[in-house]
Amino acid sequence: MDERTQVAIAGGGIGGLTAALALLRRGFKVIVCEQATELREVGAGLQLSPNGLRALYQLGLEKPLMRSASEPSGKEIRLWNSGRTWSLFDLGASSVKQYGYPYLMMYRPDLHAILAEAVLQLDQNAIWLGAKCVGFEQRKKDVAMQLADGRTVVADVLVGADGVHSTVRAQLMDADQPRFSGCLAWRGVIPMDQLPQALRRPVGTNWIGPGAHVIHYPLHAGKLMNFVGIVEKDDWCVESWTQKGTHEEMHADFPGWHDDVHTLIDRIQVPYKWALMIRDPLSRWTSDNVTLLGDAAHPTLPFLAQGAAMAIEDGYILARCLGNTPFEPKAALAGYEKARIKRTTHIVQQSTENGQRFHNRELADAEGAAAYVDREWAEGKIRQRYDWLFSYDVDRAPVE
Ligand SMILES: Cc1cc2nc3c(=O)[nH]c(=O)nc-3n(C[C@H](O)[C@H](O)[C@H](O)COP(=O)(O)OP(=O)(O)OC[C@H]3O[C@@H](n4cnc5c(N)ncnc54)[C@H](O)[C@@H]3O)c2cc1C
Repeated sequence: MDERTQVAIAGGGIGGLTAALALLRRGFKVIVCEQATELREVGAGLQLSPNGLRALYQLGLEKPLMRSASEPSGKEIRLWNSGRTWSLFDLGASSVKQYGYPYLMMYRPDLHAILAEAVLQLDQNAIWLGAKCVGFEQRKKDVAMQLADGRTVVADVLVGADGVHSTVRAQLMDADQPRFSGCLAWRGVIPMDQLPQALRRPVGTNWIGPGAHVIHYPLHAGKLMNFVGIVEKDDWCVESWTQKGTHEEMHADFPGWHDDVHTLIDRIQVPYKWALMIRDPLSRWTSDNVTLLGDAAHPTLPFLAQGAAMAIEDGYILARCLGNTPFEPKAALAGYEKARIKRTTHIVQQSTENGQRFHNRELADAEGAAAYVDREWAEGKIRQRYDWLFSYDVDRAPVE
């Protein structure tokens, strides 16, 4: 038998659950169909900048977030071979003073669990597990989402929040044509108590070097260190969050890099490798009563750390648009896309550009590196790069 709801969401990741929570708080009936059979997340770290946190705080999540997050005191740049360190910008109280909200580092499973719990508190039947969307049919007055097990969810609106390999996007648009970026990402987490004291500092560290960069920061109330190492190479094209590699391969990808980087690699529990793909931003992602959000709408390279924040902003703004009275689903979805597409396109483009900045050839020797860092990370340039991102206000952003 068909199930009837107002908003059907395909995908219960960060974006889908944020949208569900924001909609439930506005009194909508929502069903989230998640293909996984249990609410358990893989993945590592996420950086949550003030723009994304503003939305999560407005959704009442400040307390649980602060319990499981790590709040870095600032960000640093370190040079790949010498380890020379530059302070990049202060976070902690400075972030709150400047943008009204902190900058937090989150363990992805923690954030996912906090969102899921908040959704289930409002409606314990709102999340369906083992519910894989395989397609949809747009009808005059509603849309019917088909699930792999034969069930159908009929709704006023369907939201494809089903991630980078979105089934909803595949039906809504022409097939996407990802290009390999030429970069491989190594990821993993390290139990903090296995690191030497000097590497446990509560800062976000960006190691930069010719052809590669490494980012590490504390997570999970300081109990874990997140590690991401991006390296330019062309022999690996599998875009997956769950593909394992070996410590030996990882070490070999960072020849001549500082001992601290190799100490971190040694202590990673399970190294995962992931090919970074580029997808050009879409010129639209809505058709009548069906829309997309998060990675399904605007997959991005991770070089601005905005993937999760964009998905969160999307979910919040979508709920604002659908909450307009009178309830006009098609107009609301058109308004949502209009409110979001310019910003997300710009973020995707800037993120790609930032990758070049981290890997520049000028970083190969100490003298060139110092000049490069002084030029590229001068205070004015940092402000230009981040102020527009962090000061975005999900409540004040104009929507139609
Ligand atoms: C496993 C994983 C680990 C990640 N780790 C990091 C990280 O360490 N750092 C970082 O910056 N970013 C990470 N990301 C990316 C970042 O989390 C995303 O940019 C952000 O979560 C976007 O949120 P989203 O809701 O759009 O997509 P996702 O969080 O990817 O959620 C999509 C959800 O849709 C579900 N789904 C997919 N297809 C279907 C279908 N047909 N029917 C029903 N459900 C479906 C998926 O199971 C998933 O739960 C990770 C993503 C994933 C999936």
